[in-house]
Amino acid sequence: MKNEDAISYVTINGKEQIATINLLKGITLYGEKLISRNGNEYRIWDPFRSKLAAAYIRGLEFDFSNVANILYLGASTGTTVSHLSDIIGISGRIFAVESSTRVARELISNVSSKRTNVIPIIEDARKPRNYFSIYDKMDLVYCDIAQPDQTSIAIENCKIYLKERKPILLVIKTRSIDVTMSPKDVISQEIKKLENNSFEIKQKIDLAPFDKDHAMIKAIFRAR
Ligand code: SAM
Repeated sequence: MKNEDAISYVTINGKEQIATINLLKGITLYGEKLISRNGNEYRIWDPFRSKLAAAYIRGLEFDFSNVANILYLGASTGTTVSHLSDIIGISGRIFAVESSTRVARELISNVSSKRTNVIPIIEDARKPRNYFSIYDKMDLVYCDIAQPDQTSIAIENCKIYLKERKPILLVIKTRSIDVTMSPKDVISQEIKKLENNSFEIKQKIDLAPFDKDHAMIKAIFRAR
């Protein structure tokens, strides 16, 4: 078993699997395995269900040790949010934005009602000034909303809420942006948008084979 910051790797039947230490002992969210080792309970993190787990497996370098506040756009039912909640622990906060009331209901009943470091915000990420519960600047913006204008939405949210010199992790679902362009060209186009808005690109990760035609971009916000 290996621990790298808050991300862990547990070996099961000779196979190394990514995991987080469960903040809610004995409780699972999406049928993930729980493994007890050395007094900790590990939650196996499924890279086919979470693009952040896929990104780590595909080479993402991201250290959460200085991250306390996260603005998460596109929380859905909270699969990735729950692992981030394990990672940042009870002293951190995840402001989890989701516009669909149907999935937000699950986010609230299964995740934020049990994990006190998750604050649900049922709003459209296109209207970031409507987030009534955010009182601080963020150490990280994570965006996975699968919309054609998602990069612009992410940029607007960063301008309001992200601290200078802090990172964004942006998931690009190329098929949601333009089905007629090659995925590679869509990714280059979205990267250009970030660069034109004072972001410095640090990593570009292809999420295949976990998610086809998806990339994760890590970039630093250099301010306006
Ligand atoms: N990030 C999630 C995870 O890893 O568990 C999966 C996110 S799913 C690909 C995209 C989510 O973004 C959907 O739940 C969708 O309702 C939400 N979404 C789409 N447009 C949005 C918007 N304008 N504002 C907020 N959420 C949005």
